Order: sequence, then C-alpha cells, then structure tokens
Amino acid sequence: MKFRISVFFFIFVLLLLYFLKAAWFLYLIAFLVFSFITFLGVVNMDFHWFLKSYIHNPTVKERKIAITFDDGPTQSTPKFLELLKNFDQKATFFCIGKQIEKHPQIFKQIIADGHEIGNHSFSHGNNTGFLSTQKMMEEIKQNDLIIFEKGNIKTNLYRPPFGIINPNIAKAIQKSGKKSIGWNIRSFDTAIKDEEKILNRILPNINSGSVILLHDTSEKSFRVLEQILLFLQRENYRSVTVSEIFDFDITNYSKKSIRN
Ligand SMILES: [Zn+2]
Repeated sequence: MKFRISVFFFIFVLLLLYFLKAAWFLYLIAFLVFSFITFLGVVNMDFHWFLKSYIHNPTVKERKIAITFDDGPTQSTPKFLELLKNFDQKATFFCIGKQIEKHPQIFKQIIADGHEIGNHSFSHGNNTGFLSTQKMMEEIKQNDLIIFEKGNIKTNLYRPPFGIINPNIAKAIQKSGKKSIGWNIRSFDTAIKDEEKILNRILPNINSGSVILLHDTSEKSFRVLEQILLFLQRENYRSVTVSEIFDFDITNYSKKSIRN
C-alpha cells in the first residue's frame, strides 16, 4: 500500500529534520507536502494510494470498452436501457441501495437485459469520507442485501461514491471482499452543462480497455450516451461489462433466475 510507504517516509523525514536540528518551518513544509499527497491519494483512484483500483485495462486487444453508470436506478434508467438494447451494447450499472428500493422493477429490468450490476453503497451520503470502517462496511452490506433481495444476484464490484478512497473506505472494501472499480474517462456529465464539452472529454479518449463513467440520471446524459453509441458503431467498438473488460472470474456472481 503506497499510503503506508508514504507514512514511513514522512516519519523518516521528521526524524532526519530532528537530527539535523532543522528550523520549525521545514517541519511545517514536510507536513503540508505529506497532507497534499495524501489528499491527492484520496480523490484520485488511479493513484492506488490506499488499495488497488481497477481503472482501465490497457492489455485489452479487441476494440471493446466498458460503459458504466452510477447513481441509479432512476426514472430515466428505462430510456438508457432501451437505447443500449437498440445498439446491442452492454454496460455496468453501479446502483445505490436506496434507489433500488425506490425502483425495484427497473433494477430487475437492468439485470434481465443482461447488464452487469455493481454496488455503489446503500445511501451514497455526502459524509462518505467521514464514516468509520464499520459504518462503511454496513453501507456495502446493506446494499448487497437489497441487490440479492430484489435481483437475486451477488456482485463483487464496488464503486466508491464520489470516487473517494481513504484508509477506512479501503479497509471496508477489502473486508467486504469487493474489487474497487474506477474509470479512466470521467465525463463530468452531472456537472458540465454543455453536451459538446462532455463529449469532447469522452470520445477522443476512447481506446480498447477504456472505462467510461456516466450517470443514468438525466436527459442530458441520455443524449450523451446516444452520441457515444453512435461513435462506437462508427469506430467498430463494442461496450461490454466491467467483468469482461478486466477478465474477472464471475462464476460465483453469475446471473440466477430473477424473482418477481
Ligand atoms: Zn455516485
């Protein structure tokens, strides 16, 4: 774990400063540098600072990518499903437990259409970064229960809300036996208003093994998805599930019959 190495290095620097009888402000600089690097590790999953995350797979030879959706299911999800069906493409939906409770039928439809499901915590609260390991594990387990109850499936994929990982979250993910799934193309489709700008963040960066982050939450994201699918069609790419992109063994997580 890179974080642990950085802590040892920080302690080493402090001892060095102590033995060199360094001025106080050098301690302050060392502390600020350490804090800044730690912060970058928290907000960037691709730093793999607290645990390894799956960001993209550059070893993929075929022209395939993984489109992923966070924060659903929502009222808008059926439109996304229809579009994916029309283009015959598969995606992965990282669902929030509370949303599954609101839209159980839509959740079942995602599974029935052959897409993959990932865990995106039960409540996706803004306090995610401040939860204890125990509370974070409860968030994951509670959602696992709902996923099983409503969809009769299990998933070992987990996407941390806001892409934030700190030591507590990392421990919770590891103890839950989940794989931490990130992305290498972040669309910012919930933040950026202009669709062209969103597409400019996505289309030029698509390569074999890419993982795109979208949200099945708005009309705008729906239109963005349509443009992405047209691009994939033109460029002869296929969108597949996250497990296929990373070649995960899904024997224990394969689909079972869906109860109603
Ligand atoms: Zn989210």
